[in-house]
Amino acid sequence: MTRVALINPNWDFGGSIYFGCRSPHLPLEFGISEHYLKMAGHRTLLLDAHMFDLSFQDIEAELRAFGPDQIVITTAPTYLFWRCAPPELRVPQELALAIRDLAPILIAVGPHGSSTPRAALKKLGVDIIIMGECEASLLRLANGERDFHGLCFADGAAVRVNGGPQAADFRDQPALDWPDEMIRRHHHHHHRFEAEPVGPGAEVEASRGCPYNCTFCAKENFRNAYRRRPASIILDEIERLRGQDVEYVYFIDEIFLPNPELLEGLSTRGLKFGVQTRIDLWKPEMLALLGRAGCVSIEAGIESLTVEGRAALAKNCKMTTDQLADRLVEARRHVPFVQANLIEVPEDDDPVVQRWRSKMQDAGIWANDPVPLYPYPGSPDYRKLWGEADDFAWERAHQHYLGMFDQFSDVQNDRPVPLDVLEHPVGS
Ligand code: SF4
Repeated sequence: MTRVALINPNWDFGGSIYFGCRSPHLPLEFGISEHYLKMAGHRTLLLDAHMFDLSFQDIEAELRAFGPDQIVITTAPTYLFWRCAPPELRVPQELALAIRDLAPILIAVGPHGSSTPRAALKKLGVDIIIMGECEASLLRLANGERDFHGLCFADGAAVRVNGGPQAADFRDQPALDWPDEMIRRHHHHHHRFEAEPVGPGAEVEASRGCPYNCTFCAKENFRNAYRRRPASIILDEIERLRGQDVEYVYFIDEIFLPNPELLEGLSTRGLKFGVQTRIDLWKPEMLALLGRAGCVSIEAGIESLTVEGRAALAKNCKMTTDQLADRLVEARRHVPFVQANLIEVPEDDDPVVQRWRSKMQDAGIWANDPVPLYPYPGSPDYRKLWGEADDFAWERAHQHYLGMFDQFSDVQNDRPVPLDVLEHPVGS
């Protein structure tokens, strides 16, 4: 039996270009890992320092009481944001430094180690980096295995990278149970705008990965291939959340595809939920079912308003821009909040974009002012610019981004600063 502590850091995004949501969400990768570890007879401590606003002293006290053999930290706040993680490792670096001596083995999971394992190993000062989806690898490490694909670790003076990022099966993932206190503290309803929250929110994963390969999407090293859990298991998990008074769930799926069995099941549960998807994959009758099932928020990636722009992003979209607009309007008939995401691309003229945005707004659909692309290591865009990600990949992407754009997304509060200013120097 191994004693494994799983810690979601208390995130602070000051100075970051972080595009994700800054509120606490369920640390899904750790909830799933904890389930498998417990099933195998290991002892676990799941500390969500973000949700519970824990200081290093609080974390240290918990760890000293638990006495872990292994401590695991993550470099992104929940699976939902692995594809748009904060580029800097400052917060996990500080956590790793604070807890370094509290267990014989320190492990890091997340998008950074998945794309740039050597750099993450050095920056974090951990013993092992897990590349890719982490739940199965964490179980193998707890079981005492040390030499399998998907790990990076120091081997004497050298660094060994064993194989590439690994994927979990996912289709066999059972219904998760979250502690009552964690749910009670989960006030945030992710991407919900049509009403104020009354009860707690939660995040659920119905499917993982996506069959498309958009050039800007950093999913290649994790959550890549499309997989789906049985509807009955998802509904079971939702039933448990309903028993904890959860009013709203956000499906973190990269692409929430039409699933009549799941939607029919949801329609009898009185739950509200939000999704991100591609609107071109939803027929009108399925959009009606989506609304009946309780969906109150759709985020749809349109990205570009020209065929050329969508082709340059490899959207593989069969619809025209007018057809996409009609489908968004159809969705809005059934779902109270519909958002069309746009990306800044050279193929789209700004006046055309602004006209389209106001036309959509008149139809009750929110379309964002196009945001510039961050070429995340692990995305086809990064590879097109510089080839495979190396140890300097995050710095390179960051420099490029800061140098290219002087206007930044309205979702970013602070003026972003260079990575070497945000992160602690290696070895300090
Ligand atoms: S459809 Fe969405 S999840 Fe799929 S590759 Fe494109 S951006 Fe990524």
